[in-house]
Amino acid sequence: MTTETTTHEFQTETKKLLDIVINSLYTERDIFVRELISNAADALEKFRHESLTKSDVFDSHVPLEITIDVDEKKQTLTITDTGIGMTRSELEHNLGTIAHSGSNTFITELAEAVQKDVSLIGQFGVGFYAAFMAGKKVRVQSRSWDESEGSEWVSDGSGSFTITEMKGLHRGTKIIVELKDDAKEYAQKWKIESIIKQYSAFVSFPIKLEGDTVNTVQALWTRNRNEITDEEYSEFYKFVGNASTDSLYRLHFSADAPLAINALLFVPEENFEILGFGRVEPGVNLYCQRILIDQHSENILPEWLRFLKGVVDSEDLPLNISRQALQDNALVAKLRKVITKRFLKYLDEQAKKDPELYQKFWSTFGIYLKEGVTSDYEYQKELGKLLRFESSKSEDTKVVSLADYLLRMNPEQEEIYYINGSSRAAIEAGPYVEMFKKKDIEIIYTLEPIDDFVLSHLAEFDGKKLVSADRADLSIAKDEKDASDESDDGGEEKLDKESINGLIEWMRKELESTVGDVVLSKRLVDAPAMIVNPDGFMSSSMERILAASRKEQGMGPESSKKNLEINGRNPLIIKLAELYKKDAGFAAEVAKQIHDNAMIQAGLVVDPLEMVERNYKILSRVVGS
Ligand code: ADP
Ligand code: MG
Repeated sequence: MTTETTTHEFQTETKKLLDIVINSLYTERDIFVRELISNAADALEKFRHESLTKSDVFDSHVPLEITIDVDEKKQTLTITDTGIGMTRSELEHNLGTIAHSGSNTFITELAEAVQKDVSLIGQFGVGFYAAFMAGKKVRVQSRSWDESEGSEWVSDGSGSFTITEMKGLHRGTKIIVELKDDAKEYAQKWKIESIIKQYSAFVSFPIKLEGDTVNTVQALWTRNRNEITDEEYSEFYKFVGNASTDSLYRLHFSADAPLAINALLFVPEENFEILGFGRVEPGVNLYCQRILIDQHSENILPEWLRFLKGVVDSEDLPLNISRQALQDNALVAKLRKVITKRFLKYLDEQAKKDPELYQKFWSTFGIYLKEGVTSDYEYQKELGKLLRFESSKSEDTKVVSLADYLLRMNPEQEEIYYINGSSRAAIEAGPYVEMFKKKDIEIIYTLEPIDDFVLSHLAEFDGKKLVSADRADLSIAKDEKDASDESDDGGEEKLDKESINGLIEWMRKELESTVGDVVLSKRLVDAPAMIVNPDGFMSSSMERILAASRKEQGMGPESSKKNLEINGRNPLIIKLAELYKKDAGFAAEVAKQIHDNAMIQAGLVVDPLEMVERNYKILSRVVGS
């Protein structure tokens, strides 16, 4: 064991962050007090939980509390907790590195965010460093509950820190901030008191400022809903969610059966994950009789609800349950199910009450519900009701639910149809919606590549199958007449049966290497041809996702051979049925081009070099060279 002083460099990323923090705006400075108090409270929670599972703990007589002292003469602010403490190596690691710095983008994003709004610092798990906003020197004296000797960590935040062994400490951590000359106000009792009132009112341990307890320790979630004001909820949300703005939704509910639950859940306004900050950590804390047993619990809600913030408290849980045991505890699983269902029901109610607000929620957090559909079979039914998409009957950029779709559906229709495309305009210009327009059948537009994956996982909604409109065997087309039907005499020009059969046979041979089959379409109205997926094949957009992931892994495309449907009433096809008899070579080029065009309209990959070369050949022939 080292007793002498050791000097350590801050990790490069930490230095960068410290630089920003030290030079950040004065107006935001107060938050460093909040961050240090929140660390003290975390340390106390950790100790309280650990001590429940151990029979005799070190320094068990010291009360669980936070003590704050100010010294105007020496210009210091001292925050002491009797929590879990830190060993020498924990001091070195926890207060010298940034836990998530593994990813390159994290630190860049973090630096940018903190530069803009330093109060976000706590959200990124680097709140401690805020001490250097006001401190020219910070001392951390700590002794771990594991009883190893205590140590003192000292730094001026400029590049390195030292650690020295220190005898005679009690369990816990004392942080002494030696204030900068222009930060003297933090050595005044009234100033600290007002910061605690503003930011730390919900800390669940007594905070004693110069001997006076300044917070009222209370568990908001256990109080009666009717007695809690919006302001209290909002302050509490900012406290648990480390947030600076209000929440988008809030659900406070209590139940006695089948389990005793008090839950207070918040949906934030912003989604940091889609803003590029990497995966968000779960934000709901699990309590038992007001004692925190799992902070940022991964067990109390499914992974896809990780964006929620708040608290779940259940008296039914055993107090001394260890974190590992939570994972496969049957009671926790039951709690998770009850709370998840309740929350999804709440969302459904909100969606009906205020569709506009729900659309905002959907555009910010819908991606998590989609993740839920694909990863959690258990809640598919509830999640299906919450999905939203644009459709041929929705106003531009407005979304509809599958339930809306069912309401508008004609009674004979057996299936719910969707088609994927990059935009509304791209879909509406393509061949797949022609039959739907003609028959006035609503079709859902899935504009994200992931959507078809989601809908194929969902498989059905309210007993109706979900079907991609690029399937070969669409039931809405089954009673349509194709061009080979002699009785169908719309007066328009079309191919006769014999010419059709001849053309199809010839095309099958010419396109043998690229298509599964060539068939006569019942669905096409104007377009000459389209690609369809026979039974058992995935939809074209699913294939696209797969192709992209194969490319990422350095593998070439592997496309299944799809079917080509041709339109016997389209002038190009009618002419082609003549051409191949006279000029088979040129007709073959045209057939291949029709196939490539249809592939592009399906969003599938063609060989661009080959296509351009062929295209020029056809063009030269047209201009007569
Ligand atoms: P976060 O609190 O989000 O983890 P911080 O930068 O605030 O990030 O703190 C970094 C780490 O330092 C904490 O996770 C904890 O392990 C340790 N730490 C900070 N303050 C204390 C304290 N008062 N007692 C014990 N450990 C602490
Ligand atoms: Mg912290």
